[in-house]
Amino acid sequence: SVTPATLSAISNGARNGILFKGGVHLENIGRIKVIAFDKTGTLTKGKPEVTDVYVRDGITKDYLLSHVAEIERYSNHPLAGAVVSYATEQLQETALCRVEGMEDIAGFGVRGTFSGVEWKVGKAEFVGKEEAEAFHGEIMKRLSDEGKTVIFARDGEGIAGLIALKDVVREEALEAIRTLQEEGIKTVMLTGDHERTAAAIARESGIDRYTAHCLPESKAEAIRKLQEEFGMVAMVGDGINDAPALATATVGISMGEGSDVALETADVVLMKNHLPLIAQTVKLSTRMNRIVK
Ligand code: ADP
Ligand code: MG
Repeated sequence: SVTPATLSAISNGARNGILFKGGVHLENIGRIKVIAFDKTGTLTKGKPEVTDVYVRDGITKDYLLSHVAEIERYSNHPLAGAVVSYATEQLQETALCRVEGMEDIAGFGVRGTFSGVEWKVGKAEFVGKEEAEAFHGEIMKRLSDEGKTVIFARDGEGIAGLIALKDVVREEALEAIRTLQEEGIKTVMLTGDHERTAAAIARESGIDRYTAHCLPESKAEAIRKLQEEFGMVAMVGDGINDAPALATATVGISMGEGSDVALETADVVLMKNHLPLIAQTVKLSTRMNRIVK
């Protein structure tokens, strides 16, 4: 049954841009021990920009960018958009050859064929881990330690180049995470990105722990493991690839500018992409739970 305290907390939330899809979620959020966050678009602004490009000896940056952008044009991943706009700014002419058989592999990258030669663009594991790591290995480590996402391109001859992209951590993240920790909540980041990049972003945002190299399904699996270890777990996300984890979590929280699937799957919707709203939600709930008891 809905008590007056619940109703009052729900309307208080609504006034602050926090929408609860039912009183039970409002009760649960105050009992949460762990909150898991998606990285891209949740802790970061989700608007990556290309910062560095390295090519194999014998090919030009234009050659690399024109091919990569031509394939990425067909993907709607935030990294793809960033690569395409960068290439458009940098290139004098667009690609001379057209790509065929383009494929977007969620959590890995994209592939396409240019006059019979297959190109792959994406994470190291996707283009060939050992070769990718051997290609400017030290530079790649430094870029990742700076919190940049490093993607590789592979053509018929091997690794053609690497592209680094930086997505900035939201200004309010550090403070928002600290407030949650002061409430006794453990914070975790789940990302499909590389270990080193994940570590750097976790450090920048003050997150307690992280799991890197997550595929969309493994984000949900990570939530189940956290539930076994800690009990009630909330998940905050914005993307299509966060939907399984949002559904698995005790309370799924979606960022307001998130994808439709994330908004539909979530139990709580933050009207603005404003991380401090999460701690506000927790406080609203603990206060209400005290009154109800
Ligand atoms: P996250 O969980 O950080 O939002 P994703 O699961 O969407 O990331 O992707 C994981 C990784 O796969 C990216 O960090 C990138 O290396 C690679 N990747 C995915 N899609 C693309 C793409 N369109 N172009 C290049 N790389 C991609
Ligand atoms: Mg995201």
